[in-house]
Amino acid sequence: MTHLQVDEDELAACVACGLCLPHCPTYRVTGLESASPRGRIAAMRAVQWKGADVTGSFTEFMDLCVQCRACEVACPSSVPFGRLMEGTRHTLAAQTRYQPWWRRLGYRALGRHRLLLAGSTGLAAAQRLHLVPKRFGLPPLPLRQPKLHASGTDVWLFTGCVMDAWMRSTHAAVQRVLEATGAGVALPGAGGDCCGALHTHAGLTDKARALAQRVMASMPGDAPIVVDSAGCGAALKDYAHLLGTPEAATFAARVFDVHEWLATRMERLPPPARRLPYPIAIQDPCHLRHVQKAHQHVRTVLAPYADLRELDDDGLCCGAGGAYATMHPDMAADIRARKLAAIARSGAPVVASANPGCAMHLAAAGLIVKHPLELVDEALHAR
Ligand code: SF4
Ligand code: SF4
Repeated sequence: MTHLQVDEDELAACVACGLCLPHCPTYRVTGLESASPRGRIAAMRAVQWKGADVTGSFTEFMDLCVQCRACEVACPSSVPFGRLMEGTRHTLAAQTRYQPWWRRLGYRALGRHRLLLAGSTGLAAAQRLHLVPKRFGLPPLPLRQPKLHASGTDVWLFTGCVMDAWMRSTHAAVQRVLEATGAGVALPGAGGDCCGALHTHAGLTDKARALAQRVMASMPGDAPIVVDSAGCGAALKDYAHLLGTPEAATFAARVFDVHEWLATRMERLPPPARRLPYPIAIQDPCHLRHVQKAHQHVRTVLAPYADLRELDDDGLCCGAGGAYATMHPDMAADIRARKLAAIARSGAPVVASANPGCAMHLAAAGLIVKHPLELVDEALHAR
């Protein structure tokens, strides 16, 4: 009999009203109750309360969840679905073959930054030689990366693992915008790379805890920590829960999404040299909107620099889901199709996304996607 590592009261909180169903991307695509939040909770209860077997089908529907947490926001009973799913996947990873060796190897590589940087350069070279199939959905990777230089100690800029390896030019733009407010920017020391978000999502909780300890040690002191990746920011803010220590709680209280931090300092940001000459569609990453609830700050920061267009899909997930688009490419593409239609209806030629995973997933479908602060940087420095 399998005992899921979930809180009994949290598991019991669902009243099966079904109000979350229209907000669930996997339910929207499949129409299956078992691919909905209510169906997943019912399956967890069957295992936990009735001793049902953990079957291949159970694992499949748990793994098919994007962990977008849109269901949490819609739920009148405040069911913490993200915690239930993390606990369930932790159990599956510990007691079954849910995470095979090749997936674990990939997750392990995320915490080895030099290896990741070298691998990314190799992958970029392979792309130039047309050796990487397009179906992998990878953006064109840079052969060379700009070097970042610390400029002060007012605020830490968390740089992460994949984003630092593939999109460091975004960090450079974010640093320029932070410096335009007069802030000096510090960069993390050794170990300040992988935040462990993907490990937590995969149920590899022990590895996520080890990475969290490293990240905390890499940014000592009491200066605020700003994060330009919505997924990483949500993970860093959750360290108090992940580690359960007073030190982790103190650290988490220092973490801000970079737009959240800038929104309270708008008077320090210079006016645009030229407002951007095209409208921007705002895509809300799930971990900014549903988890951090900081998505409105993107609008506050961008509005002086461009005309903004809202999407009419009520913040529906785009299907990227961290590593999800790699594990479930067909479902991720089906979910994305709804987002692409909403973006097309907006009529905007450029999309702003505050999460690298969403940006790459949408760019792989042919859209022009930029980080909101890349757009601010462009407007600040336009000639
Ligand atoms: S987290 Fe997202 S994909 Fe998973 S059940 Fe909730 S709404 Fe559906
Ligand atoms: S998770 Fe919340 S919204 Fe969904 S069925 Fe249960 S109580 Fe209703």
